[in-house]
Amino acid sequence: EPVLYVIATPIGNLGDLSPRAIELLSKADLIAAEDTRHTGRLLAYFNIKSTLISVHDHNENARADLIIRHLSAGKTIALVSDAGTPLISDPGFSLVRRVREAGYTVSPVPGCCAFIAALSAAGLPSDRFMFIGFLPAKQQARLKSLAALVEYSCTLIFYESTHRILDSLQAMIEVFGADREAVVAREITKTFETIKHGSLAELLLWMQSDANQQKGEFVVLVHGASAPQADKEGPDARSLEIVRLLAEELP
Ligand code: SAM
Repeated sequence: EPVLYVIATPIGNLGDLSPRAIELLSKADLIAAEDTRHTGRLLAYFNIKSTLISVHDHNENARADLIIRHLSAGKTIALVSDAGTPLISDPGFSLVRRVREAGYTVSPVPGCCAFIAALSAAGLPSDRFMFIGFLPAKQQARLKSLAALVEYSCTLIFYESTHRILDSLQAMIEVFGADREAVVAREITKTFETIKHGSLAELLLWMQSDANQQKGEFVVLVHGASAPQADKEGPDARSLEIVRLLAEELP
């Protein structure tokens, strides 16, 4: 049966590629990769010789046509990204959608995902969380995105790169306040893995005082708002309305 396997790859430590992932990558007629050179090195390490084609944000639709043709010829295809789970802040969404619409089986081969790994070790509430991914690059747009999240009580999870980590922490302090509890998870599964807990202000200071801590890849997790944000006059109008409606329901 033709299948598109969506296969997670390591986010640092190559030992995290699962035996099933290795087997399916070896058996695939075609591997659709975000960056064929990058994935080429991964395949070489595991001595996998399957054919690679590129699928990235700019050719995803044309590639979907090609992949659907291959599936109709009974082929097995694997989709990978540079690191972690495809579609998670990575290409693949429109391909997966198109393949499913065309009636073919899409099957996940789970493995690494940087934010799930970070959440599992951060010690922040993990019952309810919201994955935001990358914030906009421009300062105004970034502040606006953060402002929309200020009242959420669930844990907020962001991706960040070495270029913007300080700017992002600064923006978070501006919007969430310096005292908001947070965790920075850096270089997960790699040599310099660091998972640091503190207030946003403490984390920024710590990072500013040690340039090494600004390098690499980051997941930033921010504790949700502790209580509904009350304005100076007391509880906001919406909370009062809810209390009134509840009171009406009581016998
Ligand atoms: N698809 C990937 C996943 O499943 O996590 C995410 C790809 S996204 C383009 C890359 C971002 O993921 C990085 O900028 C960083 O925020 C996060 N990331 C990836 N690997 C990481 C690692 N080893 N440690 C911390 N963050 C990582």
